[in-house]
Amino acid sequence: MARRVRLVIFGRQGAGKGTQCALLIERYGAVHISTGDILRAAVAEGTEFGRQADAYMSAGNLVPDEVIIGVVQERLAKPDVAERGFLLDGFPRTEAQAQALVATLGNAGIDLAVNIEVPLEVVRDRIAGRNRADDNAEAVERRLQDYEDKTMPAVRWFGTIGKLVEVDGVGSDTDVFARLTEVIDSHL
Ligand code: AMP
Repeated sequence: MARRVRLVIFGRQGAGKGTQCALLIERYGAVHISTGDILRAAVAEGTEFGRQADAYMSAGNLVPDEVIIGVVQERLAKPDVAERGFLLDGFPRTEAQAQALVATLGNAGIDLAVNIEVPLEVVRDRIAGRNRADDNAEAVERRLQDYEDKTMPAVRWFGTIGKLVEVDGVGSDTDVFARLTEVIDSHL
């Protein structure tokens, strides 16, 4: 039985984060907290909150920090998280979100932040070769730019508190997953 993990997973759009998160959830049995999924569910339900979120999302913009931080704090407070651990996917996306997360859980409340590193030119090629509803060129570029400008500072911030590991995300899903589990298991 794999140990309970409390992880943050970073990776730019097209880095294979979705695939790897699914595999990690299967292995570690953690609660998958994907802020993108939570927001898309709210949009699908047509709540007022969902309508507001949709305006940001469809333009390829980030939802404001104070909004998403509240959503994540609420989810982290549920009992399944304490029991099974968590895998945060798509959050934090700014340094303010990262600091709020650590302020909420404490330094010891997070095992590791893992950055699945795939170079920009590689993800551009990957995204160009697929056909997804949220892949219109302008929104893709905005998300990639936001990742560099806003999310990379959050990634680096985890480095300053000694919680960051980098994993090479170029290669087959199986290879990348093996690299991930090796670093995660060796840090637990
Ligand atoms: P994702 O599926 O993680 O790419 O999220 C889809 C969209 O939801 C993003 O492009 C953002 O508009 C919004 N979103 C998801 N997570 C966050 C977050 N942590 N902060 C701000 N906006 C977010």
